[in-house]
Amino acid sequence: MSAVLETTTKRQRDTGSPLVEIEGLGRVFDLSRRWLNRLLDGSGKVHLTAVDSVGLSIARGETYALVGESGSGKSTIARMTVGLLPPSSGSVRIGDADIWAERGPARQRDIRRKIQMIFQDPYASLNPRWRVGSIVAEPIKAFGLKSGAREREQRVGELLSLVGLDPHDARKFPHEFSGGQRQRIAIARALASEPDFIVCDEPTSALDVSVQAQVLNLLRDLQQRLGLTYLFISHNLAVVRHMANRVGVLYLGRLVEEAPAGTLFAEPKHPYTRMLLDAVPDISMETIEREPIAGEIPNPINPPSGCHFHPRCPHATALCKRETPPAYHVDGAMVRCHLYGPDAGAMLQ
Ligand code: SF4
Repeated sequence: MSAVLETTTKRQRDTGSPLVEIEGLGRVFDLSRRWLNRLLDGSGKVHLTAVDSVGLSIARGETYALVGESGSGKSTIARMTVGLLPPSSGSVRIGDADIWAERGPARQRDIRRKIQMIFQDPYASLNPRWRVGSIVAEPIKAFGLKSGAREREQRVGELLSLVGLDPHDARKFPHEFSGGQRQRIAIARALASEPDFIVCDEPTSALDVSVQAQVLNLLRDLQQRLGLTYLFISHNLAVVRHMANRVGVLYLGRLVEEAPAGTLFAEPKHPYTRMLLDAVPDISMETIEREPIAGEIPNPINPPSGCHFHPRCPHATALCKRETPPAYHVDGAMVRCHLYGPDAGAMLQ
């Protein structure tokens, strides 16, 4: 059995156990002006909490989708999860490694090999001066996965075939391809390091609608064949419904609802989730009128007190303005809303 196939078989055998565990993850950005300017105009420090104590786990072979409007913290979580942005608090474990605590270079290298990211814009994520063969071969070379040039070339050909391209495309430059084909090249490059876990950050939102479904189907197909685990970031709920096993809903950096995809789409619990679903025009291909999302996401530098969603929520009470709702577990879902707590009866009167 080849090494790649052996690894894949092992991954598929392990399907169901957690591969990714994120605990208490937080990120605060300091947006303060220089100290001298602050001294002169008497202003204070300014902090923005982009991610506030987020915890989630992703089973091997699963697709976990994070959804929310722009500014909800999705991409910040993605960048902390792949090791591109250090968190202010909390931890990210991939397998047996805490990615922000490991110090040894060999261990760091092994972690980097196991985690890959597919970016939103395939035009910007590929080096325009490199031939496709060099782009896809780069991780193979960097992680020493094939020793000779000939073996690397052969592996690049296999990877291009795997994503539906011709092995001869290795000789071309990125500008010779369409947007969908470039995203296939980006996927081939992500697969080149033989990762366990891939973060897909809005991987189809820059593509024509006609090719979005092809790229999504390719990602699903590759997941089944290679036993991959995905964290899927999207603001498009129709895409999430197509891809995800479980969904987490973010609002101003907090995870406000989490549920299996079927449960979330059939019975959304948090008022914000309901608002998001009501705004999707074709989620169930029904012809009923859809409500646009009411209001705007508040300024994260100065978020509303208590439940951050209260200025937009039709059910908000004094309790919501005062106290941050804890996590309640209801019918297989986690929801942070006082409507599911002990004071729910009084709120609905
Ligand atoms: Fe609305 Fe209150 Fe629930 Fe927040 S806690 S979503 S304001 S009902």
